Amino acid sequence: MLTSKLYYEDAYIKVFNASVLSCEFTGEFYEIILDKTAFFPEGGGQKADCGFIGDAEITDVQEVNGEIIHFSKNSLTVGQQYECKIDWGIRFGRMQNHSGEHIVSGIVHSMFGYDNVGFHMENNYVTVDFSGELNRDQLDLIEEKANIAVFSNYKIKCYFPDVDELSDLDYRSKLDLTENVRLVEIENIDLCACCAPHVNLTGEIGVIKILDFMRHRGGVRIVMKCGFDALHDYREKYKSVYEVSGLLSAKQCEISDSVGRLLQEIDSVRRDFYNFKLSVAENAKTNLLSAGECSYFITNGYDADMMRELVNFSMLNSKLCMIFSGDDNNGYSYIAGSLSLDMKKVAKAINTVLSGRGGGRDTMIQGKVSAHKNFIVDFITNIDLGDFNG
Ligand SMILES: [Zn+2]
Repeated sequence: MLTSKLYYEDAYIKVFNASVLSCEFTGEFYEIILDKTAFFPEGGGQKADCGFIGDAEITDVQEVNGEIIHFSKNSLTVGQQYECKIDWGIRFGRMQNHSGEHIVSGIVHSMFGYDNVGFHMENNYVTVDFSGELNRDQLDLIEEKANIAVFSNYKIKCYFPDVDELSDLDYRSKLDLTENVRLVEIENIDLCACCAPHVNLTGEIGVIKILDFMRHRGGVRIVMKCGFDALHDYREKYKSVYEVSGLLSAKQCEISDSVGRLLQEIDSVRRDFYNFKLSVAENAKTNLLSAGECSYFITNGYDADMMRELVNFSMLNSKLCMIFSGDDNNGYSYIAGSLSLDMKKVAKAINTVLSGRGGGRDTMIQGKVSAHKNFIVDFITNIDLGDFNG
């Protein structure tokens, strides 16, 4: 029941009529076999085509033991002929990426002698692993040559050579097989064994862009996009660059310098602000109140840095220091410290009496309470430090 492979006769067939030879339900999907098909089954690093056979949506196509099986949630009538449509947008994008990958791999092989040892086609990008390392300058050169091959509009020919012809040929991805080896020949650039559909002319690939690259198993992994995927990527990134350039009032090609300067400025402002906060806290030392051996200060607008600065200072002069910052509506943050008391006990008392939560290390605790200011003052003025001895 072998299906005729229309995608090998013509990679551009988008719509065709075919008869259903079998349609079997296997628990999750109907597995459909046709007399002929233009649906490419997953293989050679390229994912399966999707589309429709009649009204039945095809979500996957696999070649199993020589049979091409179309997977669908819907059943079809055996013996009936249906109009079949493959999702051409997705397929053509994959053809652009796959032919582009062959060009890049061919150029890498001829320039550096490295092999393509891994190829993965994701939804809108491709990764290729090479057996040797490449740096950005080398990849830029490869990218330049790849795009020259595109603009040269070379022919791409896919064919099955006979055994004798094959044995005389030097091609990439050499297999042990001697029969039914399908070769993809890109004029002047590359000859490689491959089972997937390709474009007819390199000009159809559109731009070839190598994006990221990283070291991978002693070689390099590159991420690339071709054709529409590269165009969509450019469109999306251009929008970003356009907006950032407007926000920074900088030329588009200079935004990274501008962002660098901005980050330095932010860093400097942050340092100045930190020093300013500490000087405010420093001045507040004279405002500390006393209740027995305890010093305290209830304020608003102090952050943790400022409260900590005050506690660090005050801990040296009193047995317990407590700083609260906030207001009755939103609650108060607190930091408390002591060099001699058990601060875990202090935290427990604050959290219990003032409806709070928090804790910390041996000499300093911090947290937040929801009690009002008069309760906090009451708590501090009536505190018995004897309860907190370590
Ligand atoms: Zn291929």
